[in-house]
Amino acid sequence: MSKVISAVKKVYSDCGISNPLQLPLEVIIESKNIIIKEERIDGADGRILMTKNSGVITLNASIDFPPRKRFILAHELGHFELHRLIQPVFSDNDETLNHSQQPNFNPVEAEANDFAAEFLMPTDLFHAECKGKKFDHNVIEHLANTFQVSKTAAILKFLKKDNGNHPVFVVCCQDNKMKWFKKTEDWLYFSRFQKGLPPPSGTVANEVFKKGFSYYASEAIQPIWKSDWFELKEREIDKEFFEYCLFVPSFNYLLSVIWEK
Ligand SMILES: [Zn+2]
Repeated sequence: MSKVISAVKKVYSDCGISNPLQLPLEVIIESKNIIIKEERIDGADGRILMTKNSGVITLNASIDFPPRKRFILAHELGHFELHRLIQPVFSDNDETLNHSQQPNFNPVEAEANDFAAEFLMPTDLFHAECKGKKFDHNVIEHLANTFQVSKTAAILKFLKKDNGNHPVFVVCCQDNKMKWFKKTEDWLYFSRFQKGLPPPSGTVANEVFKKGFSYYASEAIQPIWKSDWFELKEREIDKEFFEYCLFVPSFNYLLSVIWEK
């Protein structure tokens, strides 16, 4: 069992739970002798200060999206469980919390993100919620609602090996530039991703940055051509794919989720 999964299971067993929704996250954290405060902090979304057996988590009071607070709290709990003996303070922002998929990402931060994802969406329960459902944006919404996480957190969990049940490709863009991509192991196509360039024309991501808002409701899923995001082989006939964009205007950040029709 991985270090992260054992750490999550240990907290569950310490609290006598088998599902993170059986107890409020704050109660779980406080049972570890950690105080939670909310304050305005400059340049960070959350922070933890730890000793060997206690800690103080400070959440930035300007964050008002409950799933985001949950993810930050779980990430800080991960630092407490995994890292308190190696470093007494961690300060987290969008970069440490949401971009683990980048090459050369700080491994300690990646571990705290993996802890948070596993803690909030245990793999066995996550897998059970995906099972038998045809993949589309409703599945992402269902997972986000079930586990009280953001749609971004749900789709990132879906991409990891053995978690989801459908080939999916995800691209993250910020400030109209491609930042990283991630795909399920069974995704077969070679993408036109190039770090630092704007998303290719024809993609929904490109359009969303131009308009400044995303599609929603019945239009949330947009048809695109395979060639908009992926290379075609010689004489290959283009085909329809779907693209679903999660756009976060406050960070000028988007995740495009792409799958075959
Ligand atoms: Zn961190």
